[in-house]
Amino acid sequence: MTSGIEHVAQRVATGLLPDRAEVAEAVAQAYEEARANDDGDVADHIPSLAEVDPDLFGICVTHVDGGCHDAGDAEFEFSIQSISKAFVYALVSEAYGPDVLHEKVGVNNTGLPFNSVMAIELNDGHPLNPMVNAGALATTAQVTGDTPDEQWDRILTGLSAFAGRPLELDEEVHRSEAGANQRNEAIARLLESYGRIEDPVATVDLYTKQCSLRVSAHDLAVMGATLADGGVNPVTGEQVVSEQVCRDTLAVLASTGMYEKSGEWLFRVGLPGKSGVSGGIVTIAPGKGGMGVFSPRLGSAGNSVRGEQATAHLSRALGLNIFASGPYSPQSADGQA
Ligand code: GLN
Repeated sequence: MTSGIEHVAQRVATGLLPDRAEVAEAVAQAYEEARANDDGDVADHIPSLAEVDPDLFGICVTHVDGGCHDAGDAEFEFSIQSISKAFVYALVSEAYGPDVLHEKVGVNNTGLPFNSVMAIELNDGHPLNPMVNAGALATTAQVTGDTPDEQWDRILTGLSAFAGRPLELDEEVHRSEAGANQRNEAIARLLESYGRIEDPVATVDLYTKQCSLRVSAHDLAVMGATLADGGVNPVTGEQVVSEQVCRDTLAVLASTGMYEKSGEWLFRVGLPGKSGVSGGIVTIAPGKGGMGVFSPRLGSAGNSVRGEQATAHLSRALGLNIFASGPYSPQSADGQA
């Protein structure tokens, strides 16, 4: 099975973020509005995540020209968790082209929670998409390198290139997660039994490490802006992945980035995004910029409650929803010839 899309250059949607003052005001408003919301609960399936201050809240928006707007705890560092899946998917796609992961993992929503075993069983061992744990394990197993150490080096340098600075492992989160990892170990064994991965122990370890990398909301915004900028990190100027890989990654995020709530997210926010159980969300406005939010209280699918509210606010205020349009008029066509 191939992805069925032609990987040729495609016309790029145009338009930038509004000017700096307008973005700064929208960030401040989104922060104030969402800060009042203390719905949701901090994740507790990984013991060290349960210890975080639930009131932490940070937002960052990064333009594709590299300009950034921070609010609140935008520099506070937390473990990236499932948001790593988006960037590891991009690195593996870059290495092999789109069809390998399309065949081995897929791009369709499971409609089930991120750590569902049933989703695998219902689909003859096919992990369905790279943003749930099964598909992420199958994706991480494909990272280039002859040994797990070389694969880890690729993940670390690759995600650091997206962030534009050297990221570090949170040893405590890694230890805590490794000690409470029975479900991921079971998923990896199940995938092994279906011939989907070869070394479940090494794969779970790599995956757990990638989830334990420390990032801030500011980092997430720069990482998202790199996907928004055809793969060029707008702060460092480094081409991290190709334009085609960005396009594929954003398509996968739009349908699966918020797990079984991806449809509701797309309806409300209208942009591709990826959440993690530590409370981060990265959102991408293609061609315009990236948004990073962090707030540890989660809704039922494991997505940050304030993070989603703040991102929805920014999408509306800055005109980012990719599905929004207005009626044609000759004036609106001015300047487009
Ligand atoms: N490391 C976490 C896990 O596997 C990531 C899950 C998430 O962020 N949704 O349980």
